Amino acid sequence: MKNTGFQRQTRQRSVILDELRRAHDHPTARELYERVQIRLPRISLGTVYRNLERLHEAGMIRKLEYAGQETRVDGDLEHHYHIRCTRCHRLDDVPEITSDLVGQRFEELGGYRVTGHRLEFQGLCPDCRNETGE
Ligand SMILES: [Zn+2]
Ligand SMILES: [Zn+2]
Repeated sequence: MKNTGFQRQTRQRSVILDELRRAHDHPTARELYERVQIRLPRISLGTVYRNLERLHEAGMIRKLEYAGQETRVDGDLEHHYHIRCTRCHRLDDVPEITSDLVGQRFEELGGYRVTGHRLEFQGLCPDCRNETGE
């Protein structure tokens, strides 16, 4: 069978999604591109960007956008919190802290109907603690 443009696009998208789902470090588009490139040597950064946009529009990935930082992507759609290292900007998942309580409290206190919120923890990651002795 001839390799059509459509097939190539589908393959590119599934490799991108696959790499993202197995990443646990919330890569930037550029970091993800470097990993995808190992499997698809001819892919371009622009193609990775475009596919991430499509996947985001389709609700298949999350974008993590913070002022002054390069956008990161997360293949885990379950609501979870993140912790960012203030020194090297590594971003990890925070386990076992659920979001339900936070939204509930606001409704009780202020009469708001909460449709979403952002909460990010900050600190020093284990590597940076080792390096700085803190
Ligand atoms: Zn760090
Ligand atoms: Zn995450």
